[in-house]
Amino acid sequence: MTEKVVIIGSGPAGWAAAIYTSRANLEPLLFEGAATQENFDIGRPPLGQLAITTEVENYPGFPAGDLSAYLDNSIDEKKRKYMAPHSGEGVSGPELMELMRQQGINFGTRVRTEDIESVDFSEHPFKLTTQGGETIEALSVIVATGARANYLGLESENRFKNMGVSACAVCDGALPRFRDNPLVVVGGGDSAMEESDYLSKFASKVYVVHRRDELRASKIMADRVLENPKIEVKWNSVIDEVLGDDVNGVTAVRIRSSKDESQTEELEAAGYFAAIGHTPNTDFLGGQLEMNEKGYLTWTVPFRTNTSVEGVFAAGDVADDYYRQAITAAGSGCMAALDAERWLAAQGHH
Ligand code: NAP
Repeated sequence: MTEKVVIIGSGPAGWAAAIYTSRANLEPLLFEGAATQENFDIGRPPLGQLAITTEVENYPGFPAGDLSAYLDNSIDEKKRKYMAPHSGEGVSGPELMELMRQQGINFGTRVRTEDIESVDFSEHPFKLTTQGGETIEALSVIVATGARANYLGLESENRFKNMGVSACAVCDGALPRFRDNPLVVVGGGDSAMEESDYLSKFASKVYVVHRRDELRASKIMADRVLENPKIEVKWNSVIDEVLGDDVNGVTAVRIRSSKDESQTEELEAAGYFAAIGHTPNTDFLGGQLEMNEKGYLTWTVPFRTNTSVEGVFAAGDVADDYYRQAITAAGSGCMAALDAERWLAAQGHH
């Protein structure tokens, strides 16, 4: 059997694509990735990056707090009578992803909890090989495999993930544990500048730990940080260890001079943010789709999700090193579904 649409990836982009293609009767088959320890450890689990975060407060439609009380008390009675009863307290990343997954399944998306190991886009129908060695034929493919945050690889970073260690200030920075406390950001690029500037709104102080004596960031973003009285840059410094305990999570970060390895300093901190770049999950593509200089898939038609291979579309963070938000990923997943549907229709497949 040749599939009309295969979706690879199970973050917001993948499920949005699944919801739209299944509602278009394209009977999508979605590969959500294998639930292996290795995939979790490298930050590429099924359901994507939101599966490894906590509260989500910025996804439209899911305000923090008691949704049911909000709907009961704050919505006008005339509108209220058209709404189904709800319950629950805001939404967490894993909950939001389970809801999206269920929504895709409700419309008939078939889900395989496996990785796609390799693809062959040189012939049509395309051929996709699963990790079990099975070959899947597909008329169109939506690549929505996301990107993973880079960490330094310290054991202590892993130990305190979701307990003070994060790679996304915009997602996690406003959480209560970070408010009015000192925080550490590692990196010297635009992300580190953006994250430290953002965190300085909540934190009592932000340390930027950078391995050189010169920032990589653009001048305007660097200046904003250097002029911010709440931010102190620790130059020529590397992270030695994230310190903490199982009850409090991160309590401090030990840094080491990159000029004199015997020099260490302990910075009291309630949070540690890695801002040393992201890596798009494209290895399985074997270089068959055009990428930009940073390794992200390129959209070859402006404002469309087309890739360099006709019939293959890309959505979400795998093709976006700029916005990287759940809502933008979901939006581009919808776009990819509509693009695939229209492309298939133009080929005579409905
Ligand atoms: P980046 O520009 O690649 O910078 C990564 C930073 O992390 C560099 O300063 C690098 O140090 C440091 N780093 C990398 N590996 C490290 C390691 N193992 N140990 C210690 N430090 C390490 O990545 P980015 O900041 O995520 O930015 C990615 C792209 O997105 C850039 O093109 C950026 O302009 C763009 N961006 C734009 C905005 C904006 O305009 N609002 C915001 C965020 C990102 P070295 O400098 O020593 O190499």
